[in-house]
Amino acid sequence: MGAALPQSTVGVLALQGAFSNHLSALSTLGVAGRAVRRPVDLEGIQGLILPGGESTTMSMLLDSSGLREPIADLLHGGFPVLGTCAGLILLSKRIHDGRADQRGFDVLDIATARNAYGRQNESFESAVELSGGGSIPGIFIRAPRVMEVGPNVEIIGTRHGEPVLVRERSAIGCAFHPELSGDPTVHRLLIDQIGRSLTAVADASQED
Ligand code: GLN
Repeated sequence: MGAALPQSTVGVLALQGAFSNHLSALSTLGVAGRAVRRPVDLEGIQGLILPGGESTTMSMLLDSSGLREPIADLLHGGFPVLGTCAGLILLSKRIHDGRADQRGFDVLDIATARNAYGRQNESFESAVELSGGGSIPGIFIRAPRVMEVGPNVEIIGTRHGEPVLVRERSAIGCAFHPELSGDPTVHRLLIDQIGRSLTAVADASQED
């Protein structure tokens, strides 16, 4: 358990927003990354990152690119995913201040409020306390605030006692931008999750 198999490839949704630094963060960790722009790009990946950006725009582009359905199918089947900032909004079951036509993937049982930490010029850097001990840097850019957390959601990181890094099953949600700080902790959470999922699939096929 732990590290992903070396040949794992992680897709990064690249329709809009802060995807390129996620690809760099993966490469720093020695993991192959792939920009995902069309349904065919999902083939052969073992995990997915939904980056920061503008969740309303990303939601529209998910429809026009034809990616919404195949991604929803993957995520509802327990595919490892990390959503950061706008990506966290897209994973949440309830979105406050979303646009009427904005739809998410409904995989994290949380409510998020868009832009609830203030405007772009009120963006800030703040330590995130980890439930396992220690802290990591958090860069918050018009970040969503996690307002409610369901009973099956694990809180992995907090800022001033509020959840900012959460996990439910194989979905990890992060209110800040881990790809900008140079700290690999959040990407490692996804890579560990991919390792666990691949091990579970291998174990299940041995039982057949
Ligand atoms: N405020 C943006 C949204 O609502 C998220 C900001 C970000 O991803 N940095 O989509």
